[in-house]
Amino acid sequence: MTALVAFADLDDTLFQTLRKLPGRDPADLSPATVDTRGEPHSYCAPAQTALLELLRLGAVTVIPVTGRDPAAMNRVTLPFRSWRVLDHGLTVLNPAGEPDAEWAARVTAHLTPLQDALREHTDDLRPHADALGGRLKVHKAHGVPFMAVLKHPDANAQALAELQTRWEAAVEGNAHLHVIANANNVSLLPRALGKAQAVRWLRDRHFPHATLTLGLGDSVSDLPFMRECDFALTPAHGQLLRAVAGLHLPQR
Ligand SMILES: [Mg+2]
Repeated sequence: MTALVAFADLDDTLFQTLRKLPGRDPADLSPATVDTRGEPHSYCAPAQTALLELLRLGAVTVIPVTGRDPAAMNRVTLPFRSWRVLDHGLTVLNPAGEPDAEWAARVTAHLTPLQDALREHTDDLRPHADALGGRLKVHKAHGVPFMAVLKHPDANAQALAELQTRWEAAVEGNAHLHVIANANNVSLLPRALGKAQAVRWLRDRHFPHATLTLGLGDSVSDLPFMRECDFALTPAHGQLLRAVAGLHLPQR
């Protein structure tokens, strides 16, 4: 039984695209993913490579906890040999790379009653997304729709912000769905089933004797799964710490 486990978000935590590494000498970077043509796409900065090496030397089991789907996970070239949490937590792969059937059954049971609301809130946004040049795509896990993702081909921040505001207003008050935003996309997802629930289930079911769990993530949406762990580790310049730094708490 492994005693040390790190649950780690991938994109913008363990690696990122060159766009987010301005001024870095490419010779210092290590390729971490490829694009659909097999060309290097995202890279580890030296500190990220050193962190992965530190975890490896410490015999820490590193479990990716990512929004990537199985196809996008296959384009990650870093070696992950244990369990993997994909699709924002809706898919859990065992070390052999097969979807865990028990988790899949729980997920499909949870998703079935959400289908009407998911479809409705996606269809309602579609004409507005079209008008602003956005692209809206429904993603499935275990053959069942679970998420709608809005992207903009030119990463038009203003269009994405406008659509995000509209979507959030429409979904506000829905007990089962919520809208989350990352750098280049906005997603409509189940509220009560995601990375945090997958990490809790995996830890309880398969790593009950772990003496130390680490949660690594860069985004506000990673916070719930990081809080399932004993300690949290976050990139200093990521979305999560930017949000915390911007908080103005009352002085007491
Ligand atoms: Mg991330």
